[in-house]
Amino acid sequence: MVLKEKFTLSIGDNITGSPLSVLGYRFSQGNGSSIYIQGGTHGGEITFPIFKMLSNFLEKNTEWQGTVTLIPLSHPISWNQRHYYYTAGKFDNYNGKDWNRSFPGNKDGSTTERISKMIFDEAIKHDLILDLHTSRRSKPFTIVSREDLVEYAINSGILPIYLAPKSSSNFPFTDAIDNAGKKGITIECGSHDSMNQDDFSLSFNAVLNVFRKEKLLNDNIELKKVDGVFVFEKYETYFAPISGFVEYLQPLEKLVKKGEILYRIHASNSLNEAIDVLAIENSIIMKYQSTHIATIGDEVVTVVTKYKYI
Ligand SMILES: [Zn+2]
Repeated sequence: MVLKEKFTLSIGDNITGSPLSVLGYRFSQGNGSSIYIQGGTHGGEITFPIFKMLSNFLEKNTEWQGTVTLIPLSHPISWNQRHYYYTAGKFDNYNGKDWNRSFPGNKDGSTTERISKMIFDEAIKHDLILDLHTSRRSKPFTIVSREDLVEYAINSGILPIYLAPKSSSNFPFTDAIDNAGKKGITIECGSHDSMNQDDFSLSFNAVLNVFRKEKLLNDNIELKKVDGVFVFEKYETYFAPISGFVEYLQPLEKLVKKGEILYRIHASNSLNEAIDVLAIENSIIMKYQSTHIATIGDEVVTVVTKYKYI
C-alpha cells in the first residue's frame, strides 16, 4: 500500500508575517531507492503538471518500491516576483543573482541561501535527485555534469543531453548534489511559461525511465535508447546584429545546414528592411528567446554545432 504524506518546510516568516514555506509530498511503498524530485526553483517555469502526473502514477501503480519525494514549487519567493502579468522568477530582485546559483546554501546566510539550505538538506537524504526546469523556448533535454550519469540521460528517452561543465563556485542545485557525492540530473522540460502536453509527457516518461534505471520501478519495461540521441558540451549563441523584431523560421531541434536561414530580423529603424541571419556552421537549434523583440547584441538563437550521436 502506498503511504502519502504532505509536509511543509519552513525557514521563518515573510514580511507580511505569514510562513515562508515550501510544500512537499512524500510517497513510500516497501523498500527500495529513494528519489527526490523538485521543480519551480525559477518562478514561471511550469513543470507542475508533471508533478500531478507523477503523484497520480505513484498513488495507483503497484510496481514500484521505495520512496519518492516531490517538491513541485521549491521556491517561495521566485514565484511571487511579478512584473505586470509576467512572473520574473529567474533572478532574485534583491541581489540580482540567479535563484539556482546558491546551493548548497547556508542556514545563517541571505534569504536565498537559507531557502537553498532547507531544500538541499531535504534532497540530500535521497539516493538520486532530479531537478525540473524549463528553458526559454525549447524542447525537453537533460543536463548532467558527470560522465557516468550520461547513461541515465541516454535511457531517459529524451534526445539531447548536455554534458555541462561543472561550476567552480555559485553552484546550481545538481552540481552541489554531485559535490556531496549523490547523483543529480536536471531535466529541462520544454518552454518557459508553457503548457505543452507533449513536452510534459516526454518529461514524465523520462522520470519514469530514471525510476526504472534506479530499480525503483520494476515493471519489466525495457529501457531503450531512442534513435537520434545526441550529447553536446557547449552552446553557440547568435546575437542580434541590429535592433528589431525577430521571426523564428525553423523548428526547434532541426539541423540547419551551414548557409541556411536561421532567423529573420525586421529592422526597427526602417519600414522596409530585414536581415536574414544564416547558419555559420551546421547547427541544431536548441533555444529561442521567449520574445520576438531584440535590441542589438541580444541573444536570439542558441544552437549546438559540435555534438555526438550515441
Ligand atoms: Zn530554471
